[in-house]
Amino acid sequence: MDFSSKLLENAVNEVSRLPGIGKRTALRLVLYLLKQPKENTKYLVEALTHLRKDVKSCEKCHNISDTELCDICSNPKRNGEIVCVVEDIRDVMAIENTAQYRGLYHVLGGKISPIEGIGPQNLQIGSLVEKVKNGEVKELIFALSSTMEGDTTNFYIYKQIEKYGVTTSTIARGISVGDELEYADEVTLGRSIVNRIPFEQSIKG
Ligand SMILES: [Zn+2]
Repeated sequence: MDFSSKLLENAVNEVSRLPGIGKRTALRLVLYLLKQPKENTKYLVEALTHLRKDVKSCEKCHNISDTELCDICSNPKRNGEIVCVVEDIRDVMAIENTAQYRGLYHVLGGKISPIEGIGPQNLQIGSLVEKVKNGEVKELIFALSSTMEGDTTNFYIYKQIEKYGVTTSTIARGISVGDELEYADEVTLGRSIVNRIPFEQSIKG
């Protein structure tokens, strides 16, 4: 791509670093911004800057939060004895949208993936095992995707916590989970949380 402006080229290069955004799309977005009032670009830059500067990870569930303890963990009406294990905030949002779940979450921050070089030590697994060990958790619900990485991660965690005698369950198979969890319709997802099955049953089947 030949640019008549170095400023334009720099902006396009930065935007095209985002996932799923090629050079052409980046150019379209940047040209769009140029046509908008200057304040719009300022608000966009400010929102992203504040996000990077002030966003926190909840010290209990590791979800993205504005405060040390997220709104879910600090809500006294939530049942702290049930913890749903998810990959990232998108899963939390999808499950919250169903309004069928009143427990807490534990956000792993990814899945075990040897190909991508992601091991258990790169995820928030240690703190999860610790919660179970302390006896503060009575039931763990695995809500990771039914991919090989998801299954591996579930099984790894299960092996770590099995000895503590905590109830483990998984949301019904055949339901889109993980990457697609956010797209599963709310009724189906809500129903699969209510009708979750024992984890042991899912690995034997
Ligand atoms: Zn939290």
